[in-house]
Amino acid sequence: MKNGYVPVIGLETHVELSTKTKIFCSCENRFGAEPNTLCCPVCMGMPGTLPELNEKAVEYAVRAGLALGCKVANVSGFDRKNYFYPDLPKGYQITQHFTPICSEGSLETPDGAVRIARLHLEEDAGKLFHDREDATLIDFNRCGAPLIEIVTYPDIKSPSQAADYISALRGVMLFCRVSDVKMNEGSLRIDANISLHRHGEPLGTKVEIKNINSVKYMEKALEYEIWRQTELLESGGVVVTETRRFDEKTGATEPMRTKESAEDYGYFPDPDLAAVILSDEYIGRLRASLPRMPEELKAGFISDFMLSDEAASRLVDSPDTAELFLKSAAGLDLAAAGLAANLINSYPAEAVFVRPERLSRLAEMLGSEEITFSVAKALLSELAASDFDPAEAAKERSLTAIRGEELKELAKEAVKGSPKAVKAYLGGKKTAVMAVVGAVMKASGGRADAEKARELIIGIIEKIGETEG
Ligand SMILES: [Zn+2]
Repeated sequence: MKNGYVPVIGLETHVELSTKTKIFCSCENRFGAEPNTLCCPVCMGMPGTLPELNEKAVEYAVRAGLALGCKVANVSGFDRKNYFYPDLPKGYQITQHFTPICSEGSLETPDGAVRIARLHLEEDAGKLFHDREDATLIDFNRCGAPLIEIVTYPDIKSPSQAADYISALRGVMLFCRVSDVKMNEGSLRIDANISLHRHGEPLGTKVEIKNINSVKYMEKALEYEIWRQTELLESGGVVVTETRRFDEKTGATEPMRTKESAEDYGYFPDPDLAAVILSDEYIGRLRASLPRMPEELKAGFISDFMLSDEAASRLVDSPDTAELFLKSAAGLDLAAAGLAANLINSYPAEAVFVRPERLSRLAEMLGSEEITFSVAKALLSELAASDFDPAEAAKERSLTAIRGEELKELAKEAVKGSPKAVKAYLGGKKTAVMAVVGAVMKASGGRADAEKARELIIGIIEKIGETEG
């Protein structure tokens, strides 16, 4: 790092929980509804209304905390964070300031573990729209949506490690099935804080960058801050404590406001909500029901099924594809299991709608060369829309692979029909063979194996070369 400065980075991540209803009322918790249609007097903050805690939100927070190796508090409570903003009709946000539900966890990244200081429950605010010139519009649908805020210690040493942390965190949230973590829909939002110092010297003044909505922007914002703070310190300036925002257009951060301190919010325990008391038995039950996390599954896919790192990584992009692979590969030999992984990774969004036994059958048919990969992919996307027996369909619709003598005949025909390509190939332009392969694929309607066809065609052409030469 320039002039011996090293960055010290901490992240605060807001994850919106995918419970059916909001955290303190029974309004539906859903993204994308007509503005202001999912609201009631409680989440609108009307005087005289009382919040009632959603048990599912507690369960989701505990699941997430346990998956991050956190301690779960037997007793926690809710507090009021007082501030005025148009998207917060109550004038305060209900959060857990004094007693978070979970604390002291950690998450592994390739550059080392990142410790998690706390994970607490809170409610979301509404959403402001500034796209009209004459007015700001407010949608209160998001008011009272359940959030967990996950706060790390300043253990992160680079923008790329911050990106790895977020990627690992998304995986854990998805596999716990507590959130869809869609950054473009705001179900995962990042605040980053960063300071610079020299090794052995005290920590520098930290700057917070608020509301970052993509991992790429987070990395850019942190890189920009490293540059800005280095320049500032080098020229004898001082970094001031402040909140900044990242401008996607300029790639720079700019000041938003000076940071509020805890005193500014006048936190106090919310008198409307009782303490959250969790028994060891309840926590133990949730711990026992935790699914395997993506890193562990990935390692198993590589060691048990001999998958490549890339194929295994792609399967654990979502718990649905990972589960589908586990179920469909269960009875298959290693070669067919690898083919099942390739099929799922070719069409992950569609594959998850296919029954595991159908996928197994497709992989077996591929393994025994009954069908080609392109036919298997076509059948897979049909199976996503409606269920049928792929083996029968392949037979009925003559989709079975063209092999042996039949394929040889097709190859011979194609060579005969492509004198230019043959001449080019014999003249040294080896890629010319692909035109002949294309002709075979066309004549077979995708039922020939392109690699086999290529081998056959090369054999035939080279024989022609020998007789001519
Ligand atoms: Zn409501």
